[in-house]
Amino acid sequence: ANKDTGCHYNFFTDELSAVIGERHYLESHLAEALDKQEMSVHYQPMICVKTQRVLGAEALIRWRNPILGAVAPDRFINLAEQNGQILALGNFVLRTAMKQAAQWRHSFGDDFCIAVNISPVQLRDDNLVSRVAQLLAYYQLPGTALELEITEGVLLQDEKKVTKSLAGLQRLGVSISLDDFGTGYSSLSYLQKYSFDTLKIDRSFIMNSMECEQDKELARAIIAMAKKLNLLVVAEGVETSAQHEFIVDEGCDFGQGYLYGKPVPATMFTSQYLSRQAI
Ligand code: C2E
Ligand code: CA
Ligand code: CA
Ligand code: CA
Repeated sequence: ANKDTGCHYNFFTDELSAVIGERHYLESHLAEALDKQEMSVHYQPMICVKTQRVLGAEALIRWRNPILGAVAPDRFINLAEQNGQILALGNFVLRTAMKQAAQWRHSFGDDFCIAVNISPVQLRDDNLVSRVAQLLAYYQLPGTALELEITEGVLLQDEKKVTKSLAGLQRLGVSISLDDFGTGYSSLSYLQKYSFDTLKIDRSFIMNSMECEQDKELARAIIAMAKKLNLLVVAEGVETSAQHEFIVDEGCDFGQGYLYGKPVPATMFTSQYLSRQAI
């Protein structure tokens, strides 16, 4: 990247160059982001649909760079996966979130669970299971305090390796959830092939469920199927009370979305939800 100018885009003439330019630019900053403590983790509440109690949180990485400002994960996770930096970033999120979970289990109760997104690259890394085991021991957490979220795309490659990792994690008591269900390379055969604990319905279904009868039926069918398969179901992206009513009626176990709370820093999470919990 050009250190001397903020308008590096000017050097590129066509769109492709601009993309490559953005890529290099982000990449060079990304390489130093952890060392410079630009990364942090935000937490979004996951609530029990029946009781509306906060039962856990999803950990979501945040990057704030002095020059770039806040960079959304959708802009850098892919990049980090391609250049391998995701391993360091993923470890950072795991460590931070598990440390936080240990603290929160004292305050929120010891059924509090932290959900962490795991990249395909991490899942194919032979060290993942032992690293998770080490962190659980270090923070004195039972495996049940941790849930790892993976997306369907992961399951396409290295089937043997993935099966082995997932089994190793589940032996530790860690639960595995299938994220963004219903999108991407979604295939029902994954549900057969791997043993998941939880299914997260992609927010696009919840989002459209009020306006589009077809999406509503799809969401309904997914929830019903998950229950038949004895999976816990999380509805993502719940933004309105109408959507909340819908997932209550359909028997979703957990809800997540702006209606209940946006992702926030740990201190804010504590102050926003702990008092509410005590009531
Ligand atoms: P995801 O795992 O599906 O995470 C949920 C995303 O939806 C988050 O975006 C969250 O802020 C957003 N969200 C939650 N509730 C609502 C809602 O009610 N409405 C709307 N419109 N959005 C909602 P975020 O934090 O920007 O993360 C985007 C994606 O980046 C994540 O999607 C995940 O795939 C990836 N990601 C984030 N953090 C990590 C991480 O630590 N590791 C890895 N490997 N991927 C991560
Ligand atoms: Ca997720
Ligand atoms: Ca998701
Ligand atoms: Ca996603």
